[in-house]
Amino acid sequence: MSEVLVLVDHADGVVKKPTFELLTIAKRLGEPSAVFIGPADAGMAAAESLGRYGAEKVYVVEDAEIAGFLVAPKAEALAQLVEKIGEGGPAAVLITSTPEGKEIAARLAIKTGSGLITDAVDVQPGDGAPVTTQSVFAGNYTVTAKVTQGTPIITVKPNAANPEESAGAGTVEAFAATISEAAKTAKIVAAQPREKSGRPELTEAAIVVSGGRGTGGDFAPIEALADALGAAVGASRAAVDSGWVPHTYQVGQTGKTVSPQLYVAAGISGAIQHRAGMQTSKTIIAINKDDEAPIFELVDFGVVGDLHTVLPAATDAINQR
Ligand code: FAD
Repeated sequence: MSEVLVLVDHADGVVKKPTFELLTIAKRLGEPSAVFIGPADAGMAAAESLGRYGAEKVYVVEDAEIAGFLVAPKAEALAQLVEKIGEGGPAAVLITSTPEGKEIAARLAIKTGSGLITDAVDVQPGDGAPVTTQSVFAGNYTVTAKVTQGTPIITVKPNAANPEESAGAGTVEAFAATISEAAKTAKIVAAQPREKSGRPELTEAAIVVSGGRGTGGDFAPIEALADALGAAVGASRAAVDSGWVPHTYQVGQTGKTVSPQLYVAAGISGAIQHRAGMQTSKTIIAINKDDEAPIFELVDFGVVGDLHTVLPAATDAINQR
């Protein structure tokens, strides 16, 4: 069975949930191998959890020489690994759809002369290459596609699969990449740690609770429901532009794209630009006091009512469980 490489997305050695989702997808396509780029001891430590989610092999690329540089060295290391696997190459390389992941994928595709598909929301086995599903043009079209040249390089949005435990050997194999000077031309000079809210990251969260202009600026009911559900907090642009929440919360065409298992939109009308960022969510619930609000056209469940009444009632019911 061919190897499927999964680039591990981690923060200081702690593997992020989307990587486990990619391993679950990789298992459908072939034999999952994780690629950990970072300190060797962190890679060894991460191998246990990567193996638990199906990685048969964990390639550890020691990053002492490239730590602190932007993405080019990572793409170079991955390209060398693809080449090393040789003979037909890996069946695919899967990378999480983050800005960094997409840049690595693009560089890797050029280096290996391969086709690239970004922002897949589903990947299934196909004839000759995996078949991907993408939602494009603000969600107005669903495209199925596959790579026809080289190694399929695919970036996959968080929440495209439920991470499933499936014991893999998790055998660690050190991989020594030779990084060119040309790849070491952009270095990070300062990294500001993000303020920690204790909530999951918006684009990775399995549940997102978003508020819009209908909150009137009071996000307390949104935050309380989010905390009861272990969810991230999102917002419409109207809420962001009003200065009620930071821009990092914005979901939509000019904000973040989310694809959680559950999206709750409270006091949001459902403008096309907001939909563009959330309509691939698996289940959508809206709370709006206007029963003709466009958001109700795409929901799985709708509640017509005042969010300041409905949300606290829902939060209380959940907290009592
Ligand atoms: P509104 O459209 O004003 O809707 C508020 C809703 O709340 C209404 O449906 C109302 O019935 C309901 N409501 C009021 N009070 C209550 C209550 N007490 N309880 C329950 N319901 C209540 N928007 C985005 O969100 N994301 C983007 O990325 C984005 N990008 C854009 C890019 C461009 C180029 C442009 C032109 C626009 C963009 N917009 C974006 C803006 C978008 O067009 C809408 O203006 C915006 O989404 C509206 O936000 P809203 O739904 O919160 O507000």
